[in-house]
Amino acid sequence: MVKIALQITCRLDNIEELRPSGSEFRWCLKFACCNCGETSDKWNYICADDPVRPAVRGNGVSHFVSKCKLCSRENSMMIIEDSIQSFTQNDQGQFKTIVIFDCRGIEPSDFSAREGWVAEAIEGGKEFDEVDLSEGEWEDYCDKIMQPVGIYEIKHKFERIK
Ligand SMILES: [Zn+2]
Repeated sequence: MVKIALQITCRLDNIEELRPSGSEFRWCLKFACCNCGETSDKWNYICADDPVRPAVRGNGVSHFVSKCKLCSRENSMMIIEDSIQSFTQNDQGQFKTIVIFDCRGIEPSDFSAREGWVAEAIEGGKEFDEVDLSEGEWEDYCDKIMQPVGIYEIKHKFERIK
């Protein structure tokens, strides 16, 4: 088993904190098979609320199971739920781990932020609960703090945890 952290960075404009909505958040990922190196072009939605049981190595819960189309090995991964963290104002300028995946035979090769994020404005402003980062950025207006708010330049990387 290999633990892989998903790290993000972005610029927050009048936003205190950005986080995935909760256990119903859908992580959109592509995977590579560690056995043969095959990288799938397919985007997969993986949700902590949606456990699946592997057919072959049926021990423990997984959140994603796939059979490699090249080597036919069945691989799986699990979202480590208590690893989920928010990205805050203080994290700007560096990559921060927002979730850790427990990977068995596959590793994530790409991530797309998509929808389902929650953003809180600074100084006790509004909580925006339908933030869509599909375009790589998001803008709105907070009528509590009377300021525009935004999230820009979202980037990600994967880090192997030893
Ligand atoms: Zn394979």
